[in-house]
Amino acid sequence: MILSDNETKVDMLNNRAIAKTVANVIRDCDDRPISIGVHGDWGAGKSSILVMVEDELLSKTDQDNNVVCIRFNGWQHQGFEDAKIALMSAIVSELSRNQKVSDKAKDALKKLWKNINWLSVAKAAGSAAFSLATGLPPIGLLNNLMDGLKGTEYREIPINSEICKSAKIGSVIADADVIISLNHFKGHEQAGFGGALKNIGMGSASRGGKLDLHSSSKPEINKDNCTGCHQCVKNCNYGAINLNENKKAVINYDICVGCGQCIAVCQYDAAQPVWDNASEIMNKKIAEYTFALLKNKPNFHVNFIMDVSPDCDCWSSNDMPLVPNIGIAASFDPVALDHASADLVTQAPAIKGNILNPEGEHDLVGEDKFHHVHPNTNWMVGLDHAEKIGLGNKSYELIVV
Ligand code: SF4
Ligand code: SF4
Repeated sequence: MILSDNETKVDMLNNRAIAKTVANVIRDCDDRPISIGVHGDWGAGKSSILVMVEDELLSKTDQDNNVVCIRFNGWQHQGFEDAKIALMSAIVSELSRNQKVSDKAKDALKKLWKNINWLSVAKAAGSAAFSLATGLPPIGLLNNLMDGLKGTEYREIPINSEICKSAKIGSVIADADVIISLNHFKGHEQAGFGGALKNIGMGSASRGGKLDLHSSSKPEINKDNCTGCHQCVKNCNYGAINLNENKKAVINYDICVGCGQCIAVCQYDAAQPVWDNASEIMNKKIAEYTFALLKNKPNFHVNFIMDVSPDCDCWSSNDMPLVPNIGIAASFDPVALDHASADLVTQAPAIKGNILNPEGEHDLVGEDKFHHVHPNTNWMVGLDHAEKIGLGNKSYELIVV
């Protein structure tokens, strides 16, 4: 006999008693909030229990009790922020639609809906909300597909610069008539900080271009530290790292793109960056790629100097911001903009309790916070180079509005 894998109200595993108990606990809690977890091995019938709980609560005898059951699959949402926002959106939209909810409650829901952080929703919803609202192509989709499904759709833009003779830019963004960049300004473990230049140069590079940009910064494995925990192997998206017969990690440098993910996940300081002039070269290449994209195109740039995290947004975790929120800076010159943004972070005090100022004794006002967090990086080299190749000008006038 083959049974379907779908959840069911038909109780073949004697789970109805559990469902009744859960339903009774929910009924008895009146208006007090309550959380109940249903735990069990795969196949134990957890999903069916939830269906039976719903059946119990919505049964005829309970028709007047104003219970609303909302289904939400948390596993479909990656990351805590993502799931939290998705859960809020699901609850608010389901309640808004529900006939049982009073008009007063619907008014309260409308206010709550307005207060939802739409930037986070856009992030959580893969920018579908942004797309629906503006009619523009979804940002996430654009980013993922700008160099085609296989990374082969790019334009090779000749620049004949100091390091790169050409830049491989994703064709979708290379074909844009105007570039407007919106950038979260934060620390970066290889560039020092990530602002307009890093977001444009790295972000618009095709897969091959990203390989070029990172290729001087591939990590190495300190075999004495390596415990063979396998984390780097599981997290390398390129299949470039494996354990050898001695349970030590080994990198295949023919495949490795130098993304640094293995460094981020290694808890034992075994996967380490190779610091010589990697940061300087990468920052110069980023400037050259940015130049390749922006030359001959009208462009404008906005840096959000808020939640200035020590590391890049790529990681699934991060630390407290380095400094209090500073604001939003904008300029037609991405070099001036990044320089001004970095100066503003330098002049701000380090937040007490963060990685730079754990006890509140060192506010580091006037010091380069990014260099303190990532001492092997040198972001000024990138700005100097950007100015030298004609991308922009480091000098700026800050106009506060
Ligand atoms: S994560 Fe670090 S310790 Fe674990 S296998 Fe990889 S290099 Fe070794
Ligand atoms: S740097 Fe990236 S591509 Fe290279 S081994 Fe580490 S995780 Fe894999």
